[in-house]
Amino acid sequence: MIKLEDYKAPEFKIASVHLEFALDPEATIVTSTLKMVSDSSTLTLDGDELVLLSVELNGKPVDHVVTPTSLTLNVPFTPFTLVIKTQINPTANTALSGLYRSNGTYCTQCEAEGFRRITFFPDRPDVLTTYTVKITGKEPLLLSNGNQLEHGVWHDPHPKPSYLFALVAGDLGVVKDTFTTMSGRVVALEIYVEHGKEPLCAYAMDSLKRSMRWDETAFGREYDLDVFMIVAVSDFNMGAMENKGLNIFNDKYVLANPETATDADYANIEGIIAHEYFHNWTGNRITCRDWFQLSLKEGLTVFRDQEFSSDMRSRPVKRIEDVRLLKSAQFAEDAGPLSHPVRPRQYAEINNFYTATVYNKGAEVIRMMKVLIGEKAFADGLDLYFKRHDGQATTIELFVKCFEEVAERSLDIHSRWYEQAGTPLVRVSTEYEGGVLILHLEQVLREGHLPQSLPLRVGFLSPNGEELFEETITLDQFKGRFIFEDFKDEPILSLNRGFSAAVNIDYGRSDQTLAFLATHDSDDYNRRQAVETYALKVLTKGADAAPFIALYGKLIEESPRDPAFYAHALTLPSEEDIAREIGANINPDAIKQTRNTLVVALAKAHAERASALFHTLQTGAFSPDAASAGKRSLRIALLRLMVIEGFDASEIYMNADNLTERFGALACVVHHGNVATRDKLMADFQARFEDNANVFDKYLSLTGMKASVLEVKTMLQGAVFTKFNPNRYRALVGVFAMSNPTQFHTKAGYDFLCEELLRVDKINPQVSARVANAFRSYKSMEEPRKLAAHEALLALSKHELSNDLKDIITRMLA
Ligand SMILES: [Zn+2]
Repeated sequence: MIKLEDYKAPEFKIASVHLEFALDPEATIVTSTLKMVSDSSTLTLDGDELVLLSVELNGKPVDHVVTPTSLTLNVPFTPFTLVIKTQINPTANTALSGLYRSNGTYCTQCEAEGFRRITFFPDRPDVLTTYTVKITGKEPLLLSNGNQLEHGVWHDPHPKPSYLFALVAGDLGVVKDTFTTMSGRVVALEIYVEHGKEPLCAYAMDSLKRSMRWDETAFGREYDLDVFMIVAVSDFNMGAMENKGLNIFNDKYVLANPETATDADYANIEGIIAHEYFHNWTGNRITCRDWFQLSLKEGLTVFRDQEFSSDMRSRPVKRIEDVRLLKSAQFAEDAGPLSHPVRPRQYAEINNFYTATVYNKGAEVIRMMKVLIGEKAFADGLDLYFKRHDGQATTIELFVKCFEEVAERSLDIHSRWYEQAGTPLVRVSTEYEGGVLILHLEQVLREGHLPQSLPLRVGFLSPNGEELFEETITLDQFKGRFIFEDFKDEPILSLNRGFSAAVNIDYGRSDQTLAFLATHDSDDYNRRQAVETYALKVLTKGADAAPFIALYGKLIEESPRDPAFYAHALTLPSEEDIAREIGANINPDAIKQTRNTLVVALAKAHAERASALFHTLQTGAFSPDAASAGKRSLRIALLRLMVIEGFDASEIYMNADNLTERFGALACVVHHGNVATRDKLMADFQARFEDNANVFDKYLSLTGMKASVLEVKTMLQGAVFTKFNPNRYRALVGVFAMSNPTQFHTKAGYDFLCEELLRVDKINPQVSARVANAFRSYKSMEEPRKLAAHEALLALSKHELSNDLKDIITRMLA
């Protein structure tokens, strides 16, 4: 177990590193030359699955001790040169960590601890040095970080930690462009993809240029090398990686055209290109001292990419989407055995802490800090952070200190958000008499936790729906009492507008008040939240459905005003959302049935109206912009009601000129249509996209959401799965486990997943550990499901497992 309190600064410095790669698919030779000085007489370097060929100190062979994970030798107190030669097998590297081959292209993934699978090195983020890299091989393309000195020789002038190292070698097509920075420097932009896929890079390139401009105008951050490269590969464990000057991407987040990418894909490409680019400052120029500080770069960079997408698209709709993701991924994680603070204090396997808590809750902590200290102090604090820590590996404390200094106030209470796991609950009650309203708030945290600062934006509405005023209050004690005066009538409160505090709210509001807020609140986030809260009351507390159904009709009526917003407002909570609301003794079958009853009642009442609107909402020629995407998402929301009421969506599917509508229609039919139409359209979709892996993954996902265990097993036997690929696997098995609760949460479902985890763990431990996260809510299931899950996990834990999977299973069972 690695612990934060055990952190020790390194006792040595690396002045420079020179790496030579003699590429070979099965026997690549890596020669690493380190110029070092050490305050200690022994030096221990990290390694993982390396074949050590030789070690030389100042030109002479030297005694050393090598283990599977380390290389130790004695070193002088004077500056010395260490030359280490290792051999690696990129073809056999199915873990996709370190140097590996994807479709014949050599590529690397070094975060968090992949560099030690390339050479022996102090593989920790606080060891920064400058890299010169020489690559020899027969590939026409030989890329690494920094600026190119000659073919295959690269120098990165910016000191960086090893996790930001990258190498790519292969025969790829390229799309080129340029960007002129705010100081007038011209930067070459290059996106590398498989030959023939160049036309699919236009949106990614456009997103990159907009990201570069936005980071200059919004944060004053300019790019700092002569070239910025993106390489898209088809085998990748994550979304993308921010290696200095040479980002490597899962190709599903680069390639797009209207026939093969949905609006969600376009939005993801824009957001992820931006995220990785923004890391150049928040992550690369300023990095983490140790991996406990991961949220220093990830929370901040998620915050930045959310702001970018908000500026590019509709800010309220982006907020609705971000919070839905936060609740489904992070709140669920925080409510189960994998719960951990934004800054964990210990870990057994760092790969398992690339979580929604570190990323998304981390971004919320920064967003709340902005509300607490105000926009001006927030901007000044960030400027100070960039100035003070440029070129350093630093900590969350020192980040927060920048804001404390400019705001001239302590943020100690706020900083507890980093240390205390769990989602705070705020209990709310009010008293009203003679024009005075008293608001009582209480924050409920885990036992032993101290109060956190909760900034709550509160709107006050008159009973006829007028906006009276808005105020931001901060609850930073367990209990707070806030008094508001001079009302003519008792006001209606819109609490936690924009989800200003990342909390759950317990405020027993009547159905009438929720319906009132759903139609009158001036805050879009809360307007939609009112609909969701109302729907959850109907679905989990037996509230009368009839008035909700009437409200839903009103929303449909209003929907052309702001299609993107109403598409969200008309989307009912998912089965997983409902399960989270119930919290204990969950019965997925009952949830599915209750939800279905409401869905059918809504369709019965409103399909006709939906149909009339559907046909008037024309979207015109395809454009990926947010307004057009909003219209398409509303059309799909309306189409769902029509299909439930028996409408045949085949023609919509067949005539669609873009994937959003085609796939949207297919999904409506698969979830709600008749079997004959479903089989016909699924067969058509399969035939159409069999040769396009990323689109075919959507077919697999749709299958995973509905299939039985037996059907998933059968699909896994198919040709598409003969070679392991993370995207394919997550699309079918990952989606089955995460988004098919009635089939997964059964003894057969649990047993199947555990068998699969055991099998895949031998191929790719990061993927098996990630998919195992599907068990995170098993303790809130009803019996005998809970027991069956426990037994399946216990049986799995008796096998020899990777560190990644073992860590997850151990925490699950604790
Ligand atoms: Zn990131």
